[in-house]
Amino acid sequence: MRIRLNVNENTHPIPEDVATDIVRAVAEAVLTVNRYPDREFTILRESLAGYLGAGVTRENIWAANGSNEVLQQILQAFGGPGRSVLGFPPTYSMHSIIAAGTNTSWIEGERDENFEISPQTAVRWIEKAKPDLVFFCSPNNPTGTPLSLETISAAYDATDGIVVVDEAYAEFAPSGVPTALSLLEGRERLIVSRTMSKAFAFAGARLGYLAADPAVADALRLVRLPYHLSALTQAAAIAALAHSAEMLAMVDDIKAQRDRILEELPKLGFPVWPSWSNFVLFGGVADPHAVFEALLEQDIIIRDLGIANHLRVTAGTTAETTVFLDAMAGLGSVARIGA
Ligand SMILES: *Cc1c(COP(=O)(O)O)cnc(C)c1O
Repeated sequence: MRIRLNVNENTHPIPEDVATDIVRAVAEAVLTVNRYPDREFTILRESLAGYLGAGVTRENIWAANGSNEVLQQILQAFGGPGRSVLGFPPTYSMHSIIAAGTNTSWIEGERDENFEISPQTAVRWIEKAKPDLVFFCSPNNPTGTPLSLETISAAYDATDGIVVVDEAYAEFAPSGVPTALSLLEGRERLIVSRTMSKAFAFAGARLGYLAADPAVADALRLVRLPYHLSALTQAAAIAALAHSAEMLAMVDDIKAQRDRILEELPKLGFPVWPSWSNFVLFGGVADPHAVFEALLEQDIIIRDLGIANHLRVTAGTTAETTVFLDAMAGLGSVARIGA
């Protein structure tokens, strides 16, 4: 069986008792699918607010079929022809693709050393580019780099546009470290986007969401299609959120596997970038495409992002991570720069 460590999915299946509950909820919802779903998905918004805590209520929540759709709706509402969004590559490739799809021009800022973005760098780019929106990703995909709250608030103060922080991997950050959610109070142009795809092991169900000022949700009501969230999706997500603790039980295990990759790859001669997410970007690869292909031959699939001498790998289960690390060791010195 192929070991898929390429798209940062949660490699752990959802626990069986939670699955049973989800099936029960969906079975009940299916009895009334002759009717349109609750277009305000009120119970789901309440569940998501309850999960986030941090003073967030259902009025602050908006959701769609994956955070990609949430981001698209944000650009449909606040971007579009004649408007621009500033991002900081290397970052989540969908940000520029969704910008293109909504005819929003994509402006590329530059990061500092080590893929970081200081408050000064963010402000300098905002003053230079005068974007209508700023997209951050924290921790950043594909580098794993966290972003400081100082940078986010400095960026917010430097623009009168919308600031979006994509926190798809927030649950994999060290526990107890505040996220951009803690900045929402009093910042009505700040949007924090989240997803159930990664930490919640719900990628196939398609549920992304955001927390922001209620006026942001009102703006998105203008661009969403009617009844965009199916009754079955709503039922499944509500049932899963009722088991948050159990759904997130694998997160600690995944973080442990990530830390193992961070520790082991350098011993094999591949330096790693610090990661607060469920994947690791590593360097020192002489020919990324050749290494990608060599792993694929062993039924292991990771990600070649086109970054010179780098590859990205998702933290798997203990067994999957072992297979990956053994395969990397087996490649020998030909795979390493300078060998
Ligand atoms: C995986 C990922 C998402 C998730 O997208 P969904 O549409 O919710 O599955 C969002 N943002 C980033 C940065 C990601 O890596």
